[in-house]
Amino acid sequence: MPIQTINPNTNQTVKSFEEMTDQAVDAAVAQAVTAFASWKKTTYPERAALLHRVADLMRAQKAALATTITLEMGKLIAQAEGEIELSADILDYYADHGAQFLADKPLEPEYGEAFVRHSPVGVLLGIEPWNFPFYQVARFAAPNLMVGNTVLIKHASNVPQCAQALEALFAEAGAPAGLYTNLLLSGKRASALVADKRIKGVSLTGSEDAGASVAAEAGKYLKKSVLELGGSDAFIILEDADLDKTVEWAVVGRMNNNGQCCVASKRFIAVESIADAFLAKFKDKLAHLKVGDPMDRTMELGPLSSEAAAVQLADQVQRSVVAGATVVLGGQRLDRPGAFMAPTILTDLKPGIPAYHEELFGPVASFYRVKDEQAAIDLANDSTFGLGGSVFTQDEARGQRVADQLDTGMVFINHPTWTQADLPFGGTKRSGYGRELSELGISEFVNKKLIRVS
Ligand code: NAP
Repeated sequence: MPIQTINPNTNQTVKSFEEMTDQAVDAAVAQAVTAFASWKKTTYPERAALLHRVADLMRAQKAALATTITLEMGKLIAQAEGEIELSADILDYYADHGAQFLADKPLEPEYGEAFVRHSPVGVLLGIEPWNFPFYQVARFAAPNLMVGNTVLIKHASNVPQCAQALEALFAEAGAPAGLYTNLLLSGKRASALVADKRIKGVSLTGSEDAGASVAAEAGKYLKKSVLELGGSDAFIILEDADLDKTVEWAVVGRMNNNGQCCVASKRFIAVESIADAFLAKFKDKLAHLKVGDPMDRTMELGPLSSEAAAVQLADQVQRSVVAGATVVLGGQRLDRPGAFMAPTILTDLKPGIPAYHEELFGPVASFYRVKDEQAAIDLANDSTFGLGGSVFTQDEARGQRVADQLDTGMVFINHPTWTQADLPFGGTKRSGYGRELSELGISEFVNKKLIRVS
């Protein structure tokens, strides 16, 4: 994939970038090693001060940074601004709470005294996706820099200006050279970099294929990896759900970020008695979404991130229809320039139909009607993915009972799967392993060293 800014609103190429040479990558890794040697000796307050400065700069430059996000991957401008705020909040959160999460943990052994000390492991490689170009990086970099690790970031090839802006923010905040380094290179070369002895761990957020490739390399060289991969979250609507609120959340859950969230609500599973009412209202809302230029603040849905993404999604829909799916709404590309797909609802989905199994990364909702709560749970779990999921009911105990039975890393009751600085994020099954964010996330690339005294 060439490294380029292509505006998905028009499909015009804005700027192309040269990949780094092998020598330049080698020098960047060497510099990250040098930076680690001194960064690991800094105090938590010193690390926190840097993260706060980056957060302040991010907020101060919000308008320009958000515009770059929208230019490169088509996010609605207001959502891009929200992403900058969230990313700054994440930086602040780990600056404020990192020391507490990483404090020595006293143990109570039968003999002697002992505790666990949290030490950094070294240079880490973060391979990041385009869908939240600032947030994804913030949730990897902030906790790990607080730990005392240094980071090399291989960002997605379609967001090079976001990637450079992030590096510039750290430099402007006074980060020493090598603390945070942007690597302009292809996915394949990033995967090969895992073999480099100087790199101690790798975290990838992206597709199953990329995850499998990076995990294989990491396994071969016995390195720790964290994988945050795709999802096909169920959105379960029980008969006692508050219909209007549920429909509002269904629209947000599916259409946020133009439908391109790993934790988007992708499979809408309604029990029979509420299914028709839900579908009618949901369809009505999606049919009236204003679709267009993501810089126009009156728009409610923008383009996909690239022409290739739109072609792939339209093909998944087409193959599903050929295999027996019914189109309730939309079903095709929009007749206008840019990477646009019409808001779509598919139904009559069953095993064997592509949309039943595959992740639909865009504004396409799969709708299922089931007889009762147990059937909803069974269908939700009939997926190779296990990222998030949600259940809508006015009975919280019932919501928790359903949550207990979903095979996913996250379940939200009366809300689509979401993220915030202080909640762990991650999945099970083919959605990956490990966690980002919270105390769980900050502990991934840490040497939890036992120290026994006497
Ligand atoms: P992708 O192709 O896997 O790209 C993600 C990153 O991996 C990019 O930086 C990409 O670089 C790199 N990459 C691609 N192939 C690679 C390889 N063989 N070895 C090493 N790196 C490689 O993902 P995408 O399709 O653009 O992104 C959408 C996917 O990410 C969806 O499945 C979505 O659900 C998932 N996602 C998951 C989470 C989560 O937290 N679980 C969050 C967001 C997105 P290039 O751009 O240069 O190819």
